[in-house]
Amino acid sequence: MVVGDIATGTEVLIIGGGPGGYVAAIRAGQLGLDVTLVEKDAYGGTCLNDGCIPSKALIHGTNLAHEVNNAEAMGIHARADVDLKGLVGWKDGVVDQLTSGVEKLCKANGVNLVQGRAEFVDENTARVAHGGEGQGSETIEFEHAIVATGSRPIQLPGLEFDGEHILSSKDVLDLDELPDSMVVVGGGYIGMELSTVLAKLGCEVTVVEMLDDILPGYQDDVTRIVRGRAEELGVEFTFGEAAQGWEEVGGQARVTTETEDGETFEYDADKVLVAVGRQAVTDTVASEAAGLEPNDAGFLETDHQARTDVEHIFAVGDVAGEPMLAHKAYKEGHVAAEVIAGEPAALDYQAVPAAVFTDPEIGTVGMTESEAEEAGFDPIVGEMPLRASGRALTLGTDEGFVRIVADEETKFVLGAQIVSPDASELIAEVGLAIEMGAQLEDIAATIHTHPTLSEAVGEAAANARGEATHTLNR
Ligand code: FAD
Ligand code: NAD
Repeated sequence: MVVGDIATGTEVLIIGGGPGGYVAAIRAGQLGLDVTLVEKDAYGGTCLNDGCIPSKALIHGTNLAHEVNNAEAMGIHARADVDLKGLVGWKDGVVDQLTSGVEKLCKANGVNLVQGRAEFVDENTARVAHGGEGQGSETIEFEHAIVATGSRPIQLPGLEFDGEHILSSKDVLDLDELPDSMVVVGGGYIGMELSTVLAKLGCEVTVVEMLDDILPGYQDDVTRIVRGRAEELGVEFTFGEAAQGWEEVGGQARVTTETEDGETFEYDADKVLVAVGRQAVTDTVASEAAGLEPNDAGFLETDHQARTDVEHIFAVGDVAGEPMLAHKAYKEGHVAAEVIAGEPAALDYQAVPAAVFTDPEIGTVGMTESEAEEAGFDPIVGEMPLRASGRALTLGTDEGFVRIVADEETKFVLGAQIVSPDASELIAEVGLAIEMGAQLEDIAATIHTHPTLSEAVGEAAANARGEATHTLNR
């Protein structure tokens, strides 16, 4: 113990107050465990403060203005001018409401909240430095620990964040003035969501992606629609070039890129967003002091109960591996708390949905057709194009589809890929179907409200059975 330390003890020490940590804390509190949650910055972590929530707030505000400005075909002639400071201020209000809600929920569930940075001293002890000068520190002995320290953006060598020219996603979410032009390095989740926002606000966007398409891992017919729509919004793409560095020229940033063959190119813009992935945070907790060793990718590996190699220490959320999604962190936090409380909980990743909040949105869950084949199934596929959906047309769109994948033999639903407005919501029905072991008929025979986009989910299932009535059967 260090001089000036207070010594305390807890049954469960949780390090990190993001979606993984705060959900674990609340669930552990509900189960009657004595819980201490330590957060060094702001409760809610990346998701609430710098990620999901602020980005989705800006996406919504921007979509609203964009729709108003592009509704001539509906006889609506209007001009919505976006005051970026006002929009960012509204977004900050949403964030504050949610983060204070997290604190209240933790307290209401008996969680002891400690503000400061926790570091392992050994397998059963951590020290918490309480922030600023003279704030003191605390040594906490624990029976179980949950590491929920999340992730941070990868720094690209040669394009390190400086908050002025080279921006992280957090910097972009807090801009109070719209740059005239932006180079976006990386056409992944963040690159595509934020390029769409920037382009709709009127910024000239160039996406530099080192692979040959956007959104690695998504199928070609999914990315084609999203990329095409982004191009209509004015986003320019360059593929097969990796960003290497930059220099300041006339107050702007000149980004250099290189192809695999060594050819180089340059792109000038007022600002550069670097969004080339995120890496696990283990260095803030001195993980080695507790006997935890990150794998080659930097993650703390866990078993099906979120347990690390050290029997009484768990890891949840981004620090525990891909996919780095808030709802996956929630689930792992839940399971870790229940396992510590002695419940028979376990993780099951077969129905983890993913959504990309582009225009249109993408929603996926479970397997694609080729993944189903690789897994040894004989897949059947049903599709409903949005151009055959009455609801899509009333929303002014006809681009996109709902696709459902099932097993030919058993008709069990295996997965879905949706490109549509609100695909992030629509995908939930198929996630539930997979969780419940539903068959195609269960979805096809469910009466969906008319006219809604959800009818397309029912029609895609009917299409796989050769019984669709609003589209031609395959
Ligand atoms: P985090 O949310 O990163 O929280 C970790 C917490 O640990 C932080 O608050 C940190 O301060 C704290 N911490 C670290 N070290 C210590 C220490 N030693 N002591 C005390 N505290 C410590 N996911 C989605 O599912 N949907 C989305 O729409 C989505 N949008 C995103 C948009 C952006 C721009 C970004 C960047 C991410 C987005 N994500 C989204 C990903 C999502 O934010 C993460 O998957 C999620 O936040 C992970 O939760 P976590 O609890 O593991 O970690
Ligand atoms: P990402 O992994 O989604 O995309 C990174 C992209 O950068 C890839 O396409 C990669 O090929 C490209 N790239 C890497 N190095 C490059 C270089 N030198 N030059 C050009 N391109 C390069 O990562 P991200 O967009 O930073 O997002 C990080 C994570 O945050 C995501 O993987 C996801 O887990 C999470 N996230 C989720 C959501 C959501 O759920 N809607 C939204 C945002 C972020």
